[in-house]
Amino acid sequence: MFRMELAEKAEALADGGRWDLSMDGIFMRNALGDVVSCSYGNCRMRLFKTLMSNSCRLDCKYCQNSAYRRQPKLSYEPAELARVFMHFYARNMVDGLFLSSAVCGDPDSEMGRMLEAVRLLRESYRFNGYVHFKILPGSSKELVRQACYYASRVSVNIEAPGGNRLSELTTGKDFELDLLRRQSWIARMKPAGGQTTQMVVGAGDETDQEILETADFEYRRMNVSRVYYSRFVPVEGTPLEGMRMAPPERERRLYNADYLMRFYGITLSEIEGIMEDGNLPAGDPKARLALKCFDSAVDVNSAGYDELVRIPGIGPGSAGRIIALRERGLRVKCGRDLRSIGVALKRAEPFIIIDGGRQGRIQGYRRL
Ligand code: SF4
Repeated sequence: MFRMELAEKAEALADGGRWDLSMDGIFMRNALGDVVSCSYGNCRMRLFKTLMSNSCRLDCKYCQNSAYRRQPKLSYEPAELARVFMHFYARNMVDGLFLSSAVCGDPDSEMGRMLEAVRLLRESYRFNGYVHFKILPGSSKELVRQACYYASRVSVNIEAPGGNRLSELTTGKDFELDLLRRQSWIARMKPAGGQTTQMVVGAGDETDQEILETADFEYRRMNVSRVYYSRFVPVEGTPLEGMRMAPPERERRLYNADYLMRFYGITLSEIEGIMEDGNLPAGDPKARLALKCFDSAVDVNSAGYDELVRIPGIGPGSAGRIIALRERGLRVKCGRDLRSIGVALKRAEPFIIIDGGRQGRIQGYRRL
């Protein structure tokens, strides 16, 4: 069992890291902090998610660990964190670690302590499971290299779409030097599980267009495997405490649009084509794109992959299966055929023709 003060520290440091996504996560509170469930490759894992330290010298206006807030300063010793993690791991309560930190002093000292904890796990405890490691802004290339060596996956949170937007939220981080430069090192170092990043949505006046342009840049130029969008939630004691929280629908629309760019081959400029004043309109972005893209219904037995994948209810998998049927000389004869290969028929019907027959009306869909 842990001493009471260690248990309280573990809980507080886990709580301090809960806004950091950089992974798919569902929070499950347990007695000593947060365990999150996340996916990595095809596996689902339970991660012990924690900060190394909670008291930051930087002034990010949205952050619960920023210099604006008065809170008890807490910090793990590397050996202590390794022991806490192994306590959970040995009891089969977690599968891996997600380690982040506030920047207490200089970034290299803090990151050195984080690395020491992970090195202990790897070399002393022989833990070879998943470790997600947050690279601190401004850390040295040598420590970034070590993080890429010891961790399964790393991330640098860029937080905002570009330097100007970031400077509205903090004076302590230079977008190009402290963040992008580290991402470009990581892209060259190629850690086993790649790198991810995160932007805060709605803490400033940034538009969805700015966010998605930055995400597109991150995927293409920084070889980021995933961009996470963390909607702004005001924190008491910060300069933004009186601001409204960002609506969950905005975060959801950004994820939808991001998914379309990554898996459907839909370009950023197509998505920009449906925006209103630089923001995604209400509703499902794919349905909006389809209404713009299709004047009339398309024949599923002759449409190409690029056309099929733009129809609501048809994804890359089901579009591929329709094409594969065609290549084997088979045809889709009815809605049931489509349903059996994974098409969400109700959503697709207004946009498709099967064997000469219209299945629904696009006009009707417009009113939905
Ligand atoms: S660098 Fe900014 S976001 Fe990160 S812990 Fe410090 S104040 Fe918070």
